[in-house]
Amino acid sequence: MDKKKIGREDFEALIKGEKDIMPYIEMDPAAGTYSVFGVRTASNPNYLVKAIYEMYEANLDKKLAVQAVRKLFRSVGMGSVGLQNLLKKFGMDLKPADFLMLVFKLQHQQGWGAPFELVEQGEKRIIIRAKQTFESQVMKDWNMAVCGIHQGWIEGILIAATGKNWFCLHTKCHAKGDDVCEFVADQVESSWKFKAQAIVRGDSAITEYIEHKPLEGKIKLIDDPVVMMPRFIFTSMMNSLKKTMGEMPAGGVNYRAYTDMGKENVEHYKKMGITNPNILADMAFAFYSQMGWFRIIKTEWNEAAKTKTMTLEHTVESEAFGSTGKNVCFCTAGLLAGIVESAFGIKVQGREIKCRSKGDEHCVFSITNKPEKPE
Ligand SMILES: [Zn+2]
Ligand SMILES: [Zn+2]
Repeated sequence: MDKKKIGREDFEALIKGEKDIMPYIEMDPAAGTYSVFGVRTASNPNYLVKAIYEMYEANLDKKLAVQAVRKLFRSVGMGSVGLQNLLKKFGMDLKPADFLMLVFKLQHQQGWGAPFELVEQGEKRIIIRAKQTFESQVMKDWNMAVCGIHQGWIEGILIAATGKNWFCLHTKCHAKGDDVCEFVADQVESSWKFKAQAIVRGDSAITEYIEHKPLEGKIKLIDDPVVMMPRFIFTSMMNSLKKTMGEMPAGGVNYRAYTDMGKENVEHYKKMGITNPNILADMAFAFYSQMGWFRIIKTEWNEAAKTKTMTLEHTVESEAFGSTGKNVCFCTAGLLAGIVESAFGIKVQGREIKCRSKGDEHCVFSITNKPEKPE
């Protein structure tokens, strides 16, 4: 089969709508090849799209699964840099919005949903809209904004086209019953603060920002180095301290050490530009929870007693110790106290008042204002 020579005039005709991709499709079933514009491609079966969404949903809720799909397709979108280089070679320098529209025209004609309409284009904001997308049809039964594929794609394409960071909101979705699928892309700073706040708001899970290079022995969580450690480190540490100083003092030492750790953690967030005390505390709670330390069931505030009560499920220590007949969560109590102290700039006393290891349903912690003692 002859390879068609693709040139500038082909793309120009396509952009103008004078041609479609049909003449540029080459299919050779015997060789198992299918190319469009000389680039190898393949069909996008519904079941594959569904499987991707469901793979993420197995570990996340639906909303976060859509975000994980978005991250995956951001990388796919960034691959459009190849097309951009080709166009540049032809002397075509498209504006970011026009480049985005060209990519989606090619996608649409290959079966990825309805054609897009350019609603608004500015240097820092681009809005596009389609009647529906491919994934909004495939994932319709989720009955929510599902178009993570397009969100990520749009971000990736615009990153490739501009070299700057873009964040795309999916403001309307066919799958949740809206009349169109609408996407609002904004050029934004990709800062630590921006990502951390997305985690606290529940728009991202920390897994989106874990950079794990197992062969190099490195893990980073939003640019900060972290380590994984086995949960039994808590029983090991406690037993070792108990041997040297006795059980009560050992609990006290752990409490102190983790108070300091909680404080330092919040100080780090402050250095990253977070100032609101409630966000600081929520951020620390969200991070530790998503790192596997506990799940927060509820938080209550008693104004008269100036006491915060936190009910946690599967704290790291109660899970590590199992049933012991007594409270074991000294580290967690210290951690929570340290977070609140540093976030709100006050002195507090953290105490575990119910513990799973003692036989209670959950671990419950009270964090109370500690009046300044006269020196
Ligand atoms: Zn949609
Ligand atoms: Zn406990």
